[in-house]
Amino acid sequence: MLRYQILPVTPFQQNCSLVWCDATHKAALIDPGGEIDRLIAAAESRGLQLAQLWLTHAHIDHAGGAGELAERLGLPIVGPHPGDQFWIDGLPQQSAMFGFPPARAFVPTRWLADGDTVTLGEETLTVRHCPGHTPGHVVFHSAGAQRAFVGDVLFAGSIGRTDFPGGSHPQLIDSIVQRLWPMGDETVFIPGHGPESSFGRERRSNPYVQGT
Ligand SMILES: [Zn+2]
Ligand SMILES: [Zn+2]
Repeated sequence: MLRYQILPVTPFQQNCSLVWCDATHKAALIDPGGEIDRLIAAAESRGLQLAQLWLTHAHIDHAGGAGELAERLGLPIVGPHPGDQFWIDGLPQQSAMFGFPPARAFVPTRWLADGDTVTLGEETLTVRHCPGHTPGHVVFHSAGAQRAFVGDVLFAGSIGRTDFPGGSHPQLIDSIVQRLWPMGDETVFIPGHGPESSFGRERRSNPYVQGT
């Protein structure tokens, strides 16, 4: 079984997710944007072995802690899609602009593409490329757990911003309709900010995607 705990980090209260396979206690951090010591302590307190860092996209609040964590613990950085290379290269400037602790650029150990899978112990999640908020944004879907970790693509009652360089509103809507909705109305998603919801609930009540 896949389990997870949401750990909001940074002044942007970004939902970093500690995810793990409860059969093997192997764990990954999805979007370790900062507060690295707290993230490591959360894994240790559950007796988990941190094995990987997974990134949905390379905005500072999601990726700001990845480079340092990878180096400190010797972990691979998996994702996002190569379309976000320019955001990764810009992490030092992003951190200065928003008053974050200095963040370092890095080269992911493994880039992700649509249809790839990532594995944690006995758990496998499918990767979907969902551009629009950033060009290289990906989401992680566990069909078994009926959960999707969607970063800043979709929120409870809202959608991701598309006014950044490389952003595209029509592309974001396409990503949501063609790559998230097929995961099923019952699927619960963990957004990059704010509370969880389900795709069915958003299709019914989210004004940005209602009726799509
Ligand atoms: Zn973002
Ligand atoms: Zn964000």
